[in-house]
Amino acid sequence: MDKNKEIAIKEIEDKESLIVEVSDKIWDYAELSLDEYKSCELYCSIMEKEGFEVRKGISGIATAFMASFGSGKPVIGVLAEYDALSGIPKCDVYKKEHLDVKKLENSITSKSSAHGCGHNLLGAGAMAAALGIKKYLEESHHKGTVILYGCPGEEGCASKAFFARDGYWNKLDAALTWHPADCNEVVTGSSNSCIQVKYTFKGISSHASASPDKGRSALDAVELMNIGVQFLREHMSDKARVHYAITDAGGVSPNVVQSRAEVLYMVRSNHVKEALELQKRVDDIAKGAALMTETSYERTFIDGMSDTVTNRTLEKVAYSNFEELGVPQHTEDELLTAKEIAGTYESREKTPGIGSDFDESYAEVALKLRKENESYMNDFLLPHFTGNAFEAASTDVGDVSYNCPTVQIHVASWPNGCPGHSWQNVACGGSSIGHKAAVHAGKVLAATAIDLFEDEELIKNALSEFKERTKDGYNCPIPEKAVAKL
Ligand SMILES: [Zn+2]
Ligand SMILES: [Zn+2]
Repeated sequence: MDKNKEIAIKEIEDKESLIVEVSDKIWDYAELSLDEYKSCELYCSIMEKEGFEVRKGISGIATAFMASFGSGKPVIGVLAEYDALSGIPKCDVYKKEHLDVKKLENSITSKSSAHGCGHNLLGAGAMAAALGIKKYLEESHHKGTVILYGCPGEEGCASKAFFARDGYWNKLDAALTWHPADCNEVVTGSSNSCIQVKYTFKGISSHASASPDKGRSALDAVELMNIGVQFLREHMSDKARVHYAITDAGGVSPNVVQSRAEVLYMVRSNHVKEALELQKRVDDIAKGAALMTETSYERTFIDGMSDTVTNRTLEKVAYSNFEELGVPQHTEDELLTAKEIAGTYESREKTPGIGSDFDESYAEVALKLRKENESYMNDFLLPHFTGNAFEAASTDVGDVSYNCPTVQIHVASWPNGCPGHSWQNVACGGSSIGHKAAVHAGKVLAATAIDLFEDEELIKNALSEFKERTKDGYNCPIPEKAVAKL
């Protein structure tokens, strides 16, 4: 291996206990979106101690931070997330009784929160990469800067899109990140753009039977809005989606004309520009519903995120480093734990990899690798998929990718087919299976960054590909004055 990469890898190995400690503490804090105060503080204090310059409160978000080291170009960003999810129990695989599914499900309360998406690992792995890159910059005396971005609220708020609005990403030469997953691969393809807006209707309350003529129903407005959107669905792009939830039905008394009601809308499309246009049509329907019911309404922007722009140049660099570094290897005990966990869900035999959903011959190769592997942990690297892939879900990494060349990898952190946002993810994320993934992700990302620092051509090529793919410009889904909130 290249000497410069060895410096970074050794540093990550030397700091392994710190990386694991951070991951475990954040697993235990399990703070929800925009409430990640302890997690943010932990990262900031460690990064300061490690010699990074730390800035808190980016884009007016109290739990966001930036930790920089070095000076001048190139500037490489590494993205960390650390928010948890509610309604999922904290399941610790080391306590075997916790694998009792019934017991676990019964233990869920309204206060339950846990790292069902593995963001405790995500943040710790990103930090590992930043520490490795810093050591390389120090020892090689290479010009350049590494910045660890603390991006709160991935599960709600889309902080990276707020950072995009405020111009943080377009100063970077490249952004690198990863996500825990059930396999090892370089992420490719696009995802859906998504915008959330809340409509609060106000009417006049009155006795529903004695004086219905005096009342104006906000609930009627919500219902008419939903019907209006239902008719809209026939006249929008096939790939677009409009979801809603009635978040306030105006109370539980049918004999009162409801003076207040609220509905939350989520508009999705495979291009942010289209999502913004579709969102305006939903706004018009709200206006129409208010007009029909003689009510008024308030529109509150919640969050928005763009589709993802792929960057093959960076994907290739990440892939060659992943190939060279291999994948995390698991002990007999870990494989046994993985098998036990895989026994608790149906999709354990699924064919792994993003490419498998879009290309039959790719799926054949992936399935063959999986079968040869003989365990539920996918301890192999999937081939780099270069076809077109599209994920219907959304991520605010999209807004980073519209502003600088961006690449993501997946590292196997739980068994094959493990459902997203689940207690199974929590269990693995708090175990040595997850720890290994975080440390390994840090190594692959650090090695990828070092290639970019060392080879100007790579950055030039990534940038020209990025410019070509984003030539129609970036339509930021975050309004100028919007404040991140939930
Ligand atoms: Zn998630
Ligand atoms: Zn996630």
